[in-house]
Amino acid sequence: MGEVQPKSVLLVGAGLSGAVIGRELAEAGHQIRVVDARPHIAGNCYTERDADTQVMVHVYGPHIFHTDDSEVWGYVNRFAKFIPYKNRVKITAQKRVFSLPINLHTINQFFGGTMRPDEAREFITTKGDSSITDPKTFEDQALRFVGQDLYEAFFKGYTVKQWGRHPKELPASILKRLPVRFNYDDDYFAHRFQGMPENGYTELVAGILDHPNIKVELDTHLTRDDVAGYDHVFNSGPIDAWFAHSLGRLSYRTLDFRRFTYTGDYQGCAVMNYGDVSVPWTRITEHKHFSPWESHEGSVLYEEHSRECGPDDIPYYPVRLVTEKQVLGDYVDMAYKESGITFVGRLGTYRYLDMDVTIREALDTARIYLDSLKAKKQMPVFVKDPLM
Ligand code: UDP
Repeated sequence: MGEVQPKSVLLVGAGLSGAVIGRELAEAGHQIRVVDARPHIAGNCYTERDADTQVMVHVYGPHIFHTDDSEVWGYVNRFAKFIPYKNRVKITAQKRVFSLPINLHTINQFFGGTMRPDEAREFITTKGDSSITDPKTFEDQALRFVGQDLYEAFFKGYTVKQWGRHPKELPASILKRLPVRFNYDDDYFAHRFQGMPENGYTELVAGILDHPNIKVELDTHLTRDDVAGYDHVFNSGPIDAWFAHSLGRLSYRTLDFRRFTYTGDYQGCAVMNYGDVSVPWTRITEHKHFSPWESHEGSVLYEEHSRECGPDDIPYYPVRLVTEKQVLGDYVDMAYKESGITFVGRLGTYRYLDMDVTIREALDTARIYLDSLKAKKQMPVFVKDPLM
């Protein structure tokens, strides 16, 4: 390790951020303690086999690995075998089933046509509201690009259920996660590398944490008062919880899963969305279809219901509207007054992060920390600005 003495580093949270930062620092010779309040590692990408059916269940909802980042892809493949997997989502809306994301098949199904790509593009352009030149809200973005009919069928109801808010109140950025395609490509993601870890995400994270310099402690809830004595702390828990919610609570959506089982194939695909607001769930996940290389007679399904996250619920999606951003800004100011701590990941920086981005940022964070030790510089409180 050259001139740098081994440091004693605490990682709060054993999800992807904590595991990856811990591993990188452990490999550089530092002593790492990783704690998690829950009884398991891997955070919300935790998977486990159902005892009755042997199906690999995504316990906190569906997680599909997809990235364009070849370093991140190489990284996860070091620790687990990934099997190519394409996410092909369907949606039940207005008493029919359609292909998602909106593609040429969806458009032809929905409007009952046989349009070719150029024809469909022109047709959808006439449907879109061209008077909206600078769409800022989710609704404007949808009306501008796909028009009223597709918006009502596929986005409005689902989004009201998912976010508990009218799409007029939500930012356009949420919808920008979804493409509209004028060909028959129904791959939900447009990324070069896509796959599922053969034995689930828990094994992946366990592999990352498996290093002689890493000690993992579960069922361990640490607060700001418990972390003295470390050379540095990386916190991937909620930033507002770290400061004991002293400035109020940041809003999250939480999910309730109604689990049910079935013998055979219940829905014929892994993810079926439900666009109608009259159906209370957003989607149903049939977990065995995430492992198409396995064969199971029994099936485990999750009906997914979204609601506002209460104090004792598990936070999933940061809401990030104007009021939350104000509160977030106050917590960020508070965090900047701390030293010896860096806030990381989805909860530490209150951002809607996919798994690959979480790993990318964790790798960058570890590098910045190692460089800061060499240069004898202070480690920043945030590597990514939470307000961006
Ligand atoms: N969305 C929608 N209809 C759908 C799927 C998604 O309106 O059938 C909207 C919804 O607001 C959702 C967002 O697009 O929150 C992003 O969807 P994505 O599938 O990326 O969400 P995730 O899988 O992360 O929950």
